Amino acid sequence: MNETAEFGRAAVDWIDRLAAVSEPGPGVTRMPFSDEHRRVLPLVQEMMEDAGLSVSMDAAGTLIGRRKGPAGAPVLLLGSHQDSVRQGGAYDGAMGVVLPALALKAIRGEELPFAIELLCFADEEGARFPTALMGPRALAGTFDMASLELKDPDGISLRRAMTDFGLEPEELPGLKRDPAGIIGWIECHIEQGPVLEAEGEALGVVTAICGIERHAVRLTGQAAHAGTVPMALRRDTLAGAAELVAAVEARARGTDGLLATVGALRVQPGVVNAVPGAVDMTVEIRAPEDAVREAAGTALTDAARRIADARGLEVEMTRTYAQAATPCDAGLQDALEAAIRASGGEGRRLASGATHDSSAMADLCPVAMMFLACRDGVSHNPAEYCPPEVMGQAVAAYTTLLSRMGAEGR
Ligand SMILES: [Zn+2]
Repeated sequence: MNETAEFGRAAVDWIDRLAAVSEPGPGVTRMPFSDEHRRVLPLVQEMMEDAGLSVSMDAAGTLIGRRKGPAGAPVLLLGSHQDSVRQGGAYDGAMGVVLPALALKAIRGEELPFAIELLCFADEEGARFPTALMGPRALAGTFDMASLELKDPDGISLRRAMTDFGLEPEELPGLKRDPAGIIGWIECHIEQGPVLEAEGEALGVVTAICGIERHAVRLTGQAAHAGTVPMALRRDTLAGAAELVAAVEARARGTDGLLATVGALRVQPGVVNAVPGAVDMTVEIRAPEDAVREAAGTALTDAARRIADARGLEVEMTRTYAQAATPCDAGLQDALEAAIRASGGEGRRLASGATHDSSAMADLCPVAMMFLACRDGVSHNPAEYCPPEVMGQAVAAYTTLLSRMGAEGR
């Protein structure tokens, strides 16, 4: 068996062992600061120790495996998250800890001019508390202490869950790191989309994590009898909404990298024999470049107004949420691409439409992400799957990347 195949086999072993620690039911359910979280930590620790790392846990519940560097040397941060969504997959998060651990094991004997910390964050998904990314936010100094009072569906506050887990939430502000001592953060993650698989590529380099904005749209017209009001005299809000849905799709199809979605639509009165008098809908826009996203938001707001005017409707379109894009570091992207090419891939560049730990780490240091091909683009689902050969290739790329960064004395 060659080295890449061995990496793939070892990755499958660890993924299976970690996935077995789950609430009952299909797929993986591992909430932060839960019994499952507590039970998975000794396994992650074993995996880190197997890679020669010394393991500790910080006040945010982040498990940290550290590989020493020369005195005063900077540190390179690697990792991802332990938690899942409810009935999620085995790869999302966990894989981003397993693969670098295997790479660090492979280069155990090699000397590097920097230290490495492998981080396993407690809560990325936000599936238990209405907040997320606490681990990286604590390191970046952007964690809002007021979030500690947020409650899970059982009424347990984040503060209480952490305290019960043996953590000291009051120590969170002290976790803030000095960016001067940090080379960067590199995360690998299942793509959660179909792009790499469609192109026959195992691995990809993330250019940016898309920014997101959301709008609430309300169209108001006149509810009326479907049999008595002639077509020319109607103020049909659903027909107007349909035009806007088509405009949203056309804008995104015609703009490189732009994604736009009408995901929710509510029709009133919503009966078979009435002209709809009101429609509430959402518009979500994502793009790797903020200017592209904002231009789309403005253009679609104008389009909504034009469509409403032409049909005698009233429209209210309000931006309810906005989150800026996170560009990945150009130098780390090039280094990742070169390492992927050395392992036989192309180093295809693509944007991430989903948020990751990297989004919060970008407030601390340069970030980069490697994506792994995902079967049928399925994720946040028990059917999520990444082939062993893809994972093996990713471990090989990590070893190349770390060795080369070492040789360059970064
Ligand atoms: Zn994830």
